[in-house]
Amino acid sequence: PLVLGIETSCDETGVGIVRGETLLVDAIASSVDEHARFGGVVPEVASRAHLEAMVPTLERATEQAGVRLADLDAIAVTSGPGLAGALMVGVASAKALAVALGKPLYGVNHLASHVAVDVVEHGPLPEPVLALLVSGGHSSLLLVPDVTSDVQPLGSTIDDAAGEAFDKVARVLGLPFPGGPHIDRAARDGQVAIDFPRGLTGGRDLERHRFDFSFSGLKTAVARWVELRQRAGETVPVPDVAASFQEAVVDVLTRKAVDACRSHGVPDLQIGGGVAANSRLRALAQSRCDDAGVRLRVPRPGLCTDNGAMVAALGAQMVSRGRQPSRLDLPADSSMPVTETQA
Ligand code: ATP
Ligand code: MG
Ligand code: FE
Repeated sequence: PLVLGIETSCDETGVGIVRGETLLVDAIASSVDEHARFGGVVPEVASRAHLEAMVPTLERATEQAGVRLADLDAIAVTSGPGLAGALMVGVASAKALAVALGKPLYGVNHLASHVAVDVVEHGPLPEPVLALLVSGGHSSLLLVPDVTSDVQPLGSTIDDAAGEAFDKVARVLGLPFPGGPHIDRAARDGQVAIDFPRGLTGGRDLERHRFDFSFSGLKTAVARWVELRQRAGETVPVPDVAASFQEAVVDVLTRKAVDACRSHGVPDLQIGGGVAANSRLRALAQSRCDDAGVRLRVPRPGLCTDNGAMVAALGAQMVSRGRQPSRLDLPADSSMPVTETQA
């Protein structure tokens, strides 16, 4: 099926078009520069930016793909989770398109689409697949028998998301928002010289939280380490702190992901969400999966962070599976749970 996907859950206005598992175009406009000076995404600013960028991005997508709107089989849109006002712009736009064109509308889960996008890179997902979802707002291990209808959480963060930890530590190090890519880059010039804590990996914590994550203790440890050096008038070795922090995060993520594959007898691991763009996470995951006999699938970095192609990809899979379209009064659900793949 030829499906257009619209993503507006945060600060990226994304319009992607797929034909089955083939990506035709992934057009993106971002308001990230408008948020940078506030050190985080400002919801009202994001909503206004979506409103302005929507039609131009849509036109760019259809033009580049050489697709006429009339030829689409369905419209897919992120219905949640995300910023309420931002989501509403995408959902309202998708409804308008669906009604004007007389096409079915699929309101899909943003988190499931971080997993589903992998089909445009590596073909159909194994069923089940084990998914490590690591993004700005979420960090979870998911058992996914069918990404269109059945996503089962095995564990998730009990405090900060991995991406949130990257962004907060970047701020402590004086790096710009969003911090993930800056830490990734800074770490390449550094050594893993500092032994920062690995949350929920030992003793009773591990027993009770085998597939859960915790990054807030790590974030505090980094902040304290930096503050002590600053108070003593020493220069902070930013590349070493970045490399050591990053190693602590990806060590725990990859260890638990491989453990989940092993304990559930699932030989395929998919990693999705913005943090999956991290170069060290990708490298360590590959080597640990190789050692464990697990097949790893991670999409190219540009498809890990928010985009419209992921929404189109999940929508197309819903069409192929014969899922019912969503109702035209579908809401924007800012706290849509990961188990609810469709609105
Ligand atoms: P969610 O998907 O949970 O709703 P989101 O959509 O805001 O959250 P994503 O766009 O999926 O989040 O991911 C953004 C996060 O990914 C940010 O925290 C950002 O710092 C992080 N990130 C992006 N690139 C990298 C990288 N190379 N290394 C580490 N983190 C990264
Ligand atoms: Mg973003
Ligand atoms: Fe996301």
